[in-house]
Amino acid sequence: SDSHFPVPNNPSECDWREHFPAFFKDATSKAENCNCVNEELQTEDRSSENEAIIPSSQADLKVRFADVGCGFGGLLVKLSIHFPDKLMVGMELRDKVSEYVKERIHALRVKHPGQYENISCLRTNAMKYLPNYFEKGQLEKMFFLFPDPHFKEKNHRRRIISQTLLAEYAYILAVGGIIYTITDVEELGEWMKSNLDAHPLFEPVPEEELAKDPCVELLSVATEEGQKVARNSGETFRAIYRRIGSSA
Ligand code: SAM
Repeated sequence: SDSHFPVPNNPSECDWREHFPAFFKDATSKAENCNCVNEELQTEDRSSENEAIIPSSQADLKVRFADVGCGFGGLLVKLSIHFPDKLMVGMELRDKVSEYVKERIHALRVKHPGQYENISCLRTNAMKYLPNYFEKGQLEKMFFLFPDPHFKEKNHRRRIISQTLLAEYAYILAVGGIIYTITDVEELGEWMKSNLDAHPLFEPVPEEELAKDPCVELLSVATEEGQKVARNSGETFRAIYRRIGSSA
């Protein structure tokens, strides 16, 4: 249950350095330098220090993409190559699965030095705690790939797309940010689409834009669940919506 994993009280308490050490390396060493050298030395050293910090001072050190219910992490692994400068995190409820994803990423980093440094995974209940991790407008993309269908009507309230949760997603998404959903369960596909249609802060992304978006084709092929559906020649149902500004 939730008591078995730590949850930050708010986004400023999240320490992403342990998730993305390569991105934060220079920032950390810079802070350490400042503590141990006097001002004169700092001035002297400035040119070389600047060289050292350029990569991370230019890098965006905030997580921008979230894969909600990431399962075994196939999407993150593919997205990492497409968007090497974006920090992204998979959020997974099952302890063993999230541990597996962390190990998978670690092994990829060891095997391909300098790559896969921008992806990570954490164990959490995304239906409860997303605003504990992300501040208002922080995310550019949220992915919901093959979420649990919760078929029975009395369990629909457990679905990861609902009016209440969409309000939360709208809060943590930047205006212009995108929610990607896909499922092989037609009824769930209709449910997600009708909930997104009903929400005033989302509008469908036009087909011509989807055709140019590299994330779209990954939806059905990158994840373990997607590959299973493809092997069985199952049909899939997508709903991809943009966070729009409120007219208020
Ligand atoms: N997206 C992956 C894929 O396409 O292969 C996994 C799909 S799997 C059917 C759904 C995943 O969502 C499971 O791994 C499950 O543990 C996770 N999950 C369900 N509820 C969750 C929640 N509230 N927070 C985080 N993860 C959740």
